[in-house]
Amino acid sequence: MPQGGRLPVVWFQAAGCTGCSMSLMNAQYPHLTHLLLDEVVPGKPIALAFHATLMGPTGEPALRVVNRLGQANQPYVLVVEGAIPTASGGSFGVMADHTLAERTEALAGSAFAVLAVGTCAAYGGIPSGSPNPTGARGVGSVLREGGVSAPVVNVPGCPPHPRWFVETLAFVLTRGLPTAEDLDSAGRLKGVFRGLIHENCPRRADFEAGRFARNFGEEGCLYELGCKGPYAEAPCPWHRWNGGVNWCIQANHPCLACCEPDFPDRVSPIFQKIEAERAKDTLRSELCARSS
Ligand code: SF4
Ligand code: SF4
Repeated sequence: MPQGGRLPVVWFQAAGCTGCSMSLMNAQYPHLTHLLLDEVVPGKPIALAFHATLMGPTGEPALRVVNRLGQANQPYVLVVEGAIPTASGGSFGVMADHTLAERTEALAGSAFAVLAVGTCAAYGGIPSGSPNPTGARGVGSVLREGGVSAPVVNVPGCPPHPRWFVETLAFVLTRGLPTAEDLDSAGRLKGVFRGLIHENCPRRADFEAGRFARNFGEEGCLYELGCKGPYAEAPCPWHRWNGGVNWCIQANHPCLACCEPDFPDRVSPIFQKIEAERAKDTLRSELCARSS
């Protein structure tokens, strides 16, 4: 990591909906302008070097930024948003004369750290949903297969809360690359993605008492309406969204487990109760079995 100057951050968009960028733009603590123009961590200034949605240049001038990065011999943090299409030689996603897979491998090869932001970049997400005609996959899986040994940290969510990105970036800026002990089995920082939604849900008492909502808008646990909270590791109940105003379950909508590696296939149909045998491990099987 450079000791002086600003650490460049390159935000590369692959197969996605730009929702993760939109979520970051909604950041309030710190606000986007502070995030991009000031310092996430005092004494560790960053500079957004490339972001196709936010930057002024387009076409050749923008491409020159990307093409120069690998040659500049300066470390940078690569952020990837969106899944990587791999079917048909990667032809479903192309940036200028290279596929998104080729671009990602080239950019990751020279990066100090790679942050796969959003469930699409982390694990494939919605673009990889069955039958996945474009062969969309997560960044880590594509880099491993391509023999690129870049350190990847996943920041999933559909979209991720801006705080999860900021906290992960702050970790990398202050402590460097996370070790295996810092990451959970899904490649997320344990310190950020801590706790099962179901264990921290304000409706947990309703679940225990067997008070289930049968229709939207009713009080009670949302398990029968398809809530996948017993299956989802995320800090949504205490971070909440839109500046801490609300979150899915508080707004009477079931959790979709949008941060999990097998979202969306394993948690579909969205509004159908997840069966005990489809839950991930013993704990979750027990939790799901209790309400059936
Ligand atoms: S099933 Fe969903 S709504 Fe019910 S307690 Fe668990 S997380 Fe909360
Ligand atoms: S509550 Fe569930 S669906 Fe909503 S953002 Fe959190 S993990 Fe995703």
